[in-house]
Amino acid sequence: MLTQVADGVLVHESEFLRSNTIVVQGRAGVLLVDPGLQEHELTCLANDLAAAGRTVVAGFSTHPHWDHLVWHERLGQAPRYGTARCAAAVREELSDPEAKARIAEHLAETEIAGKVPLDLYGLVTALPAGAARVPWDGPEVRIVEHRAHAPGHAALFVEEHGVLVAGDMLSDVLVPMLDLAGADLAGADPVEDYLAALRLIEGVAAGAEIVVPGHGSVGGAGQVRERIERDRAYVLALRAGREPDDPRIGPSAQSGWEWVSDLHHGQAHRLAAGR
Ligand SMILES: [Zn+2]
Repeated sequence: MLTQVADGVLVHESEFLRSNTIVVQGRAGVLLVDPGLQEHELTCLANDLAAAGRTVVAGFSTHPHWDHLVWHERLGQAPRYGTARCAAAVREELSDPEAKARIAEHLAETEIAGKVPLDLYGLVTALPAGAARVPWDGPEVRIVEHRAHAPGHAALFVEEHGVLVAGDMLSDVLVPMLDLAGADLAGADPVEDYLAALRLIEGVAAGAEIVVPGHGSVGGAGQVRERIERDRAYVLALRAGREPDDPRIGPSAQSGWEWVSDLHHGQAHRLAAGR
């Protein structure tokens, strides 16, 4: 089911990890950001769009993680954009012929085993490096590219409607997840990358009235700044080796999200080991 969150912007929330799909209305059709995830959700989305007489004229993946790279044939053949770095990361992943089998294997351990279509997975069209806008016929969608959480990660800002699409940041259920995959490489600083991304987003979109995270609740007026501050406080605590005072972990975590505390302890240990 699509819910309108602002003029011309609708959101569909998946049953899995409260993953959000964002629909932005353009002149000739819609821009679809991070479509996901399960077969029945994707067909439901396709049906809703068809019933409203809307075709998908462009797609966008905020970052190269599997749950942001799914597509369904019924959504059509519009170009599915991502930043140049995002597209390169997906291309590299898919250069391994076992890549999709590995995702299916990972999904086999979840409640959505066998329910995610992978045929059209990861067909991302690279935007030129440094592209500042999504090329489409609709309200201006600014691309805020950074390196927090994943290479080539981009937040999108639909200024005309006051909507910030945050990708996997600014969530009310998930703490900041640092990109620790390359953390051991010389020069890599995933903590500083995260803080820099928060500053960048703050500079562009702190005035947004709506924030749509990749997972969790859509935040209303005042929430953008609050969520930026909460994510920053968490990352600063991690950096200082302090236990964060954060409602997303510990006894205040929302029901069903207790595992986020494990995720937190995992990255805290990893960072401590690297210090
Ligand atoms: Zn992610």
